[in-house]
Amino acid sequence: MWGIIATWRMALEGVTRVSTQLERGGDAASAVVDAVADVEDFPFYKSVGFGGLPSENCEVELDAAFMDGGSLAFGAVGNLVDIANPVKVAHALSRERFNSLLVGKGAREWAVEQGFAQKKMLTERAIGHYKKRCRDTIDQGLSPYDGHDTVGMVSLDRQGGMSVATSTSGLFMKRRGRVGDSPIIGSGFYCDNEIGGATATGVGEDLMKGCTSYEIVQRMGRGMTPQQAADSVVLELEDKLMKRFGRCGDLSVVCMDKDGHFGVGTNIKTFSFVVATSQLMPTVYLAERVNEHTIYQRADEIWLADYEQRIREPIDGVLYYD
Ligand code: ASP
Repeated sequence: MWGIIATWRMALEGVTRVSTQLERGGDAASAVVDAVADVEDFPFYKSVGFGGLPSENCEVELDAAFMDGGSLAFGAVGNLVDIANPVKVAHALSRERFNSLLVGKGAREWAVEQGFAQKKMLTERAIGHYKKRCRDTIDQGLSPYDGHDTVGMVSLDRQGGMSVATSTSGLFMKRRGRVGDSPIIGSGFYCDNEIGGATATGVGEDLMKGCTSYEIVQRMGRGMTPQQAADSVVLELEDKLMKRFGRCGDLSVVCMDKDGHFGVGTNIKTFSFVVATSQLMPTVYLAERVNEHTIYQRADEIWLADYEQRIREPIDGVLYYD
């Protein structure tokens, strides 16, 4: 048995590619790192890696993480600037005994020293999004922070190994130096071979309040199915925040247990995710909350075609090629 589950439709190409590796006995760590790196490289996925959405200073600061479910080793980077694949840096950091989470200047220095590829990560299209958002915020009173997504993936390999990885540009228009949940162990990601793994996407400030991914893994460990664990954690966190904090942002999670069963939880209208297992071809699902439960169904051809078109749409009438 092998499996991989990932947040958002943007994971599809990467998941499809590494499914072949997993089918042939490839390890979960390489699967999540390679698949997340594919998402980072693709310029039209606007909240991850190259082409990621900038901060309020129009700089692209990237967060990423990796965790090995066997040794519990993890590595993470925050506010990493102009390095091509933050997830690869996070993976390399997981092999270090100390300094597992590096941010900003120190993260960049280490990555350069280790020979990771440098690349200007701010694209013309991302600048287009930025200019439009500056105007929309002023003219229409929109929240500057809308528009963000993290690619997060959990994988199980045929040898029973499990790994998780995340990557994101974080909240659009975030303050310089802001770090979300994605590189924070326990919040944006967690993985334990003996139980399973989980990863989150949504408003990091709120996901961190529930140590969301760790909590899901613990609930699976106590006997909940992945679906029960994902649903209950999202629902309870939302309830708690509404009661005690007065508001709650977007919360979505995916998880997989050590037997390859998966779960999904969300509090938003449409949360897309991707799954592939030894029994299931790479498939895009759309999830939504109905009462106390998250339900999901396969994305149809119309939704998929519309998505392809949407990510390439001109911004203010300008068509960008990357
Ligand atoms: N959780 C990410 C952050 O707060 C953003 C997202 O996943 O939508 O940085």
